[in-house]
Amino acid sequence: MRPGSMAKTAEQPRERFTNFTPYEMKKGEEYMSAEMLEHFKDLLLQWKQELMEEVDRTMHHMQEDAANYADPSDRATQEEEFSLELRTRDRERKLIKKIDQTIDRIDKDDYGFCDQCGVEIGIRRLEARPTATLCIDCKTLAEIRERQTGI
Ligand SMILES: [Zn+2]
Repeated sequence: MRPGSMAKTAEQPRERFTNFTPYEMKKGEEYMSAEMLEHFKDLLLQWKQELMEEVDRTMHHMQEDAANYADPSDRATQEEEFSLELRTRDRERKLIKKIDQTIDRIDKDDYGFCDQCGVEIGIRRLEARPTATLCIDCKTLAEIRERQTGI
């Protein structure tokens, strides 16, 4: 296999998981009911599974692809691709860790409320970003502060 064949897999880890059915709240259902927590746990587990398969696939791919190229420019291209891959894998691993922490919070029934102000984060926001720990207002504020202080 020539270097360059890996370009397709060198993409961003999936920051979002979209392969699920949006949760429909029943009439009178309480926010973060047992059923709702189950929905988010399922979603996170599936997302994690998908990410782990991606990591496996790439590691396997890299081993197969680690040929010795006689041409130095081929070697350089391959090294570049590998380091890009590794950075992506690193981000994926961090994301998996975050997913694990979130599942932990679901198990402790400490999920779906803003860490900062305590309001409901909201089902739709959590479905778009299941690892969110802040409501949209606090998140926006945190991002503004981040930009200002450069932390
Ligand atoms: Zn908040």
